[in-house]
Amino acid sequence: MADHKVLAGARVVLPTGTVDNGRVIVADGRISGHAPADAPAVDLSGHWIVPGFVDMHNHGGGGASFTSGTVEEVLKGVHTHRLHGTTTTVASTVTGDMDFLAHRAGELSELAEQGDIAGIHFEGPFISPCRKGAHSEALLRDPDPAEVRKLVDAARGHARMVTLATELPGGIDSVRLLAEHGVIAAIGHTDATYEQTAEAIEAGATVATHLYNAMPALGHRAPGPIAALLEDERVTVELINDGTHLHPAALELAFRHAGPDRVAFITDAMDAAGFGDGVYHLGPLEVEVREGVARLAEGGSIAGSTLTLDTAFKRAATIDRLPVESIVRAVSANPAKLLGVYDEVGSLEPGKYADLVVLDAEFTLVGVMRRGEWVIEPQLG
Ligand SMILES: [Zn+2]
Repeated sequence: MADHKVLAGARVVLPTGTVDNGRVIVADGRISGHAPADAPAVDLSGHWIVPGFVDMHNHGGGGASFTSGTVEEVLKGVHTHRLHGTTTTVASTVTGDMDFLAHRAGELSELAEQGDIAGIHFEGPFISPCRKGAHSEALLRDPDPAEVRKLVDAARGHARMVTLATELPGGIDSVRLLAEHGVIAAIGHTDATYEQTAEAIEAGATVATHLYNAMPALGHRAPGPIAALLEDERVTVELINDGTHLHPAALELAFRHAGPDRVAFITDAMDAAGFGDGVYHLGPLEVEVREGVARLAEGGSIAGSTLTLDTAFKRAATIDRLPVESIVRAVSANPAKLLGVYDEVGSLEPGKYADLVVLDAEFTLVGVMRRGEWVIEPQLG
């Protein structure tokens, strides 16, 4: 006999819209279409139930780095983000030595096999020295398809995305190779022109790595990558909605232009997310976190974020005033579709995993369920 839980009375955000006084039925870790009449109900009136968040670009949290932490540390980082509503996490690496990254891919692929992470995103080393951000310049290299292939193979089927500066030698061939292997080619940390970006999209690139950040600004004579990425229907744009990486007007421009189906909210979080201010390391580089803003100790470049997706959600709802249904797509459905896991997560539909977030009327997170178990159980009245 399945052990049913009924979450009742909330505003439930479904792919078809929001249902007032809706209910979500959970049985055997999944969302169920019906419940026995005597199933215990939790009254969540006055709250929202939204799908668990899917973060496709995240370098760590809880004091732990996905690039260099031990297995226990990686799990701690994943758990930290779960406490903030992210029930599906892709582990992003930063630029490192090729052998190190290949070895790391093997370690992370084991965590993907166990279902702890949803795969690996390689950010660097195939990025532009002109837009290196918090990546160590000495280790950057051109995207040679053979080397890109080496990382993909090392991930044993769990490479989900590679961020590339596609204008570099080998860039377009690497995009083609990734597309052939079913790995997302993401354009980022790039100095490409508008035309070069369009060429990469034509070759199969489908994601903009943190649109606006680490790429040339939008110019009226040189529109650059931002215009090319925003206008092409095949591209989903990542946005870091922490109030530091983007001005609210830039976020709104992207959201309006791309529309709610082509935006993915990401954290791009580093170790300090959910942990606190202090000195950290991003690969070999030292990062200082002050008042939640992470900057390189040398040069002061923004070095990832300390964002969690519950904060991005709340900001989007209360400051950017985006419709809740659009935010849910950006934070759950769209990344889940891109990652190829939308049949299991990313929306509240019968048969999918019972991964969900409970928010109060002010959009503050009060509950998280993953695979039918409370990670945080709402404390009501
Ligand atoms: Zn990143």
